[in-house]
Amino acid sequence: MDFETRAIHVGQEPDPATGAIITPIYQTSTYVQDAVGEHKGYDYSRVANPTRHALETALASLESAEYGIAYSSGLGATTTLMHLLNPGDRVVLIADVYGGVYRMTSQVYEPKGYRFHYLPAEDFPNLAEHLDDSTRMVWIETPSNPMLNVVDIAAAAEATHAAGALLVVDNTFATPYLQRPLELGADVVVHSTTKYLGGHSDVVGGFAATNDPTVAERLRFLQKSLGAVPGPFDSWLVLRGLKTLAVRMRQHCQNAMEVAAVLERHSRVERVFYPGLPSHPGHTIAARQMRDFGGMVSFLAESPEEAAAIAGRTQLFQLAESLGGVESLIEVPARMTHAATADAPFAAPPNLVRLSVGIESAEDLLTDLEDALVSAAARSR
Ligand SMILES: *Cc1c(COP(=O)(O)O)cnc(C)c1O
Repeated sequence: MDFETRAIHVGQEPDPATGAIITPIYQTSTYVQDAVGEHKGYDYSRVANPTRHALETALASLESAEYGIAYSSGLGATTTLMHLLNPGDRVVLIADVYGGVYRMTSQVYEPKGYRFHYLPAEDFPNLAEHLDDSTRMVWIETPSNPMLNVVDIAAAAEATHAAGALLVVDNTFATPYLQRPLELGADVVVHSTTKYLGGHSDVVGGFAATNDPTVAERLRFLQKSLGAVPGPFDSWLVLRGLKTLAVRMRQHCQNAMEVAAVLERHSRVERVFYPGLPSHPGHTIAARQMRDFGGMVSFLAESPEEAAAIAGRTQLFQLAESLGGVESLIEVPARMTHAATADAPFAAPPNLVRLSVGIESAEDLLTDLEDALVSAAARSR
């Protein structure tokens, strides 16, 4: 079955008890047993829940994964993955990793003796030189947040495996509709389902998928042992989001391409970061490993003041953190999502503006951006 069909049907058969076409929200903490230890696969909802199970089955299928495990948030998935490691282990991460992941590695795990090395995206062609015997994991985002850097997943997998480490790919920006890291050799794919997978800015959730039975068994064990599980209603919201993922992504990509092209020609814009632009340094790799280029666009305004003025002046692009919903959002990473990276190896440029391009009319979005760019410029003159 094709992606669009699996998104709607896998793990989502009509309810056998009633025929309900939509997976019920099994809002229950526990399950009655027929006799001591005799149950239908469910004993307690931290361990297993039918609505969560439907989400795990559907999303694993979309990532071409044998195993899928849902978590309470993207960072809930991340912290669970960190528990695959031990103090002293070394992890190489892409330098412009999501700000919340950097806060976790630098302020939670580093003080416990874990070691992290932050490698700029442009050094990934030489990844092998940065791995040693103690390196257990390589962690990349591609495209990355907020710089939209692109890493060659297949090449990174080869170097990582030669060093005996695991490659984890945060696929939040691309979604499995645009890119499937496990097919390219990654060991684990991780998501903030809060973003495109939920798709409607109404839920916080996380997910991990793998084809490695040993890793899967450990992640499943850690899901129940650490307890970062999504509730039934949150699982249901993400499951509902998945059904329309393909059509939403097509519109996100089309709108983002138009926005990026117009911004690139705009006199008030210093530089645009979008993997779909031929000028983007990762364009060729992105074209090879992605179906299309995604809905996220970043650009440099002429100054930090102008970046803030633009973000404050758009009307349709709402000033907010997060991304991946049907509605367009605008933000200044250095002062919002990536404030935790101020003293980091990578710091978001203070004049960077990040757009999550929604699925409204592209014409309306362009008018909104044009008006904000012009009035911000007039004011700062
Ligand atoms: C938002 C985000 C996360 C964190 O996910 P939460 O659901 O907010 O915990 C991780 N990685 C990326 C790329 C993100 O955008």
